[in-house]
Amino acid sequence: MRTRSLAGWLMLTALALPTYAQTLTPYPGATDIAPPMAHNDHYDPIHEAGLAPDIDPEKGYRIEDLGAGAFMVTEGVYQMMIVQTDEGLVVVDAPPPIGDKILKAAEDIAPGAKITHLIYSHAHVDHIGFAAQILATNPEMQIIAHQETANILARAADPNRPLPTVTFDGIDTPFQVTAANQLLELNYSGPNHEPGNIEIWHPESRTLMLIDVIFPGWMMWRRMAIAHDIPGVFDLVGQINAKYDFEHLVAGHVGRAGTKADVEEQLAFMTDLHGAALNALGSTAIAEGMAPADTTNPWAVFDNFIDRVTVQCVAELAPEWRDKLSGFDVFIYDQCMAMEQSIRVDGPSL
Ligand SMILES: [Zn+2]
Repeated sequence: MRTRSLAGWLMLTALALPTYAQTLTPYPGATDIAPPMAHNDHYDPIHEAGLAPDIDPEKGYRIEDLGAGAFMVTEGVYQMMIVQTDEGLVVVDAPPPIGDKILKAAEDIAPGAKITHLIYSHAHVDHIGFAAQILATNPEMQIIAHQETANILARAADPNRPLPTVTFDGIDTPFQVTAANQLLELNYSGPNHEPGNIEIWHPESRTLMLIDVIFPGWMMWRRMAIAHDIPGVFDLVGQINAKYDFEHLVAGHVGRAGTKADVEEQLAFMTDLHGAALNALGSTAIAEGMAPADTTNPWAVFDNFIDRVTVQCVAELAPEWRDKLSGFDVFIYDQCMAMEQSIRVDGPSL
């Protein structure tokens, strides 16, 4: 195969550059927030509400006592939960970024205790991919998940994510896990972040664990936290405060636990996001400002339309939300693009 020399590539690039560069002008009304794929030499600072308690750098993790035997464990970006019982420990999730620190935290909480149960919040590797290593030292433990999660894991056939030994099924059909003196209630509210993503409720400590849906103090991860079902995420975020009388929210990400106020703030942001995307879709003209030759290319017409919708959506949200949510500038384009697309395919109502 013939390969082009570096000098050859440089010459081609130099020849192509003037034409290409001419097209890289911001859309009218764009903010100073860098769009995706543009190099950004600095990001907005992290706001007060985005800060978390310090983590001992020697240990690399932090255990937060939530009361009544429940503990949150975090390494600063991921979160999981351990519940201590009279007969051992119930572990909820096993994120590989926390990894063997889960076993160290278990040892800190109850030296020598066996892990009797592992509950999967959902099937994603980044939240349960350390499960096989917990099973290796606790071969008797039960693994519990919703049937939808079991189905996804059966297809994935991933040795790091062993299949559950106990499943429950249905929507809004709570399933109780009794482990010695502790009780946890699992419930699936229907498709949301991923099919089978459940709520884990520990009534004694008033702790709710709901993963990858709420991001306390922070912008949601990109594309509404890669939501499988965006209307389902809206439903869940809208219901969760009324459904559970919780004091602590273990949300799966960021360095601190959440509260009902964090859920309210995210719901307000999502509602504004939906409104801004709807406004932009309603007021943006198709093909406006395009070179006439490109208007016969439907992919180009929609790329241009979606770009302008997104720019307007970002501009509408920035004044209110940029100083409230940490990481707003990092993922706001992704959120606007996900929202406008959901409105176009799932429908405009919430
Ligand atoms: Zn996930």
